[in-house]
Amino acid sequence: MLRIVIIGGGITGTAAAAELAREGHAVTLIEKHRIAAMASGWTLGGVRQSGRNPAELPLARAAVAMWGDLAEILGADVEYRRGGNLRLARTPAEVDVIRALVSAQQALGLELQFLSDNAAVRAVAPEISRDVLAASYCPTDGHANPIKATQAFARFARSRGAAIREGVAALAIAVEGDRVTGVDSSEGFIPADRVIVAAGINTPALLSPLGANLPLSIRITHVVQSAPLPSCLSPAFGVANADCAGRQEADGRLRFTSGAGEWPGDHSEWTESSLAPSASDVRRVVDRVAQVLPIAGTAPIARTWGGLIDLTPDALPVIDAPGCPSGLVIAAGFSGHGFCLGPVSGLLCADLALGRIPRHDLSAFRLARFARGAATPAELTLHG
Ligand SMILES: Cc1cc2nc3c(=O)[nH]c(=O)nc-3n(C[C@H](O)[C@H](O)[C@H](O)COP(=O)(O)OP(=O)(O)OC[C@H]3O[C@@H](n4cnc5c(N)ncnc54)[C@H](O)[C@@H]3O)c2cc1C
Repeated sequence: MLRIVIIGGGITGTAAAAELAREGHAVTLIEKHRIAAMASGWTLGGVRQSGRNPAELPLARAAVAMWGDLAEILGADVEYRRGGNLRLARTPAEVDVIRALVSAQQALGLELQFLSDNAAVRAVAPEISRDVLAASYCPTDGHANPIKATQAFARFARSRGAAIREGVAALAIAVEGDRVTGVDSSEGFIPADRVIVAAGINTPALLSPLGANLPLSIRITHVVQSAPLPSCLSPAFGVANADCAGRQEADGRLRFTSGAGEWPGDHSEWTESSLAPSASDVRRVVDRVAQVLPIAGTAPIARTWGGLIDLTPDALPVIDAPGCPSGLVIAAGFSGHGFCLGPVSGLLCADLALGRIPRHDLSAFRLARFARGAATPAELTLHG
């Protein structure tokens, strides 16, 4: 039995805790704020395979298979709905983008349909605007309640003996020789044989004293949530150029987002009010989304918030045990699409922490790729 400390109570860390506790290890998860306080609470909650980078597609497909069984495994309703995902084309140029996407992803074996006109799109989602020209449609995509899902993983881990400690911050990862030995936390030293860092945007600050460089650029995006509406939208949706996305939640609320800017603030010092969108930010999000989903323009707004995103230079995460120091596992940089992957990211963290051959090819997700010099910063894409 290994002593394993997990830093971060988002979906990645809690899913890792659930698996490692299930396998009988002594797991302590420390979370600076509360479970799902950051990206895993801010997220749209889309569970999507379509439009994934080919390197991520096998993980997303495995994750979607797991999402179907999560409620039963975790013993909790995570409001998972396999209602599909539409990626909409608003102009002839976007129709070409969507057509190419469909052929490329069909060639990778994904069940993705090209809906070639507005009638076909509105047959899947009648509330979509009559101005939309075409779409891709992946019927096996969907969405889930991110806070309920993350809390369910944490509860499952606790029921298998993990210590889930909210309000405890990791200050530094302790290393002796070439091995991790524990974590210095705001509540003292916690000894460990393995340390998993799943601390989202704060991961680079924990890694840099170890000489490990995870280059993240931090983006902010604004999210609008409506009051509950009658059921009107089954799939999640995005658009060809990824400048807006959304879905209808299980209780009828629309949750949608648009645009992303640089976040100039201090990562460790964000507050809800420092991230909150202004009235004009909210107007911009509503207007953009209403172009493709008119009901978003008239729905009463119940809540708005800002969410920070951990964007890597190639928009792919790091899921790696770099070996130096040994015992360290990193899972961060999910670049705006790590919620869907959470259940699989958790299994992969467990594989890496336990020294097993990972169940998926992780060569695209190694930290060392950034040592070779970062490519041009990636564009952030949000597709629900
Ligand atoms: C607006 C928005 C929309 C999105 N839409 C989608 C989507 O539709 N589909 C999708 O798949 N993904 C989406 N994403 C991305 C997805 O939400 C994230 O990739 C995912 O939630 C990342 O989970 P995580 O556990 O890695 O990180 P986080 O959820 O950020 O968890 C990290 C945790 O670590 C804690 N922490 C940080 N520092 C410390 C420390 N020093 N000590 C202890 N704890 C610490 C934080 O408090 C936090 O709770 C979206 C993100 C945003 C913001």
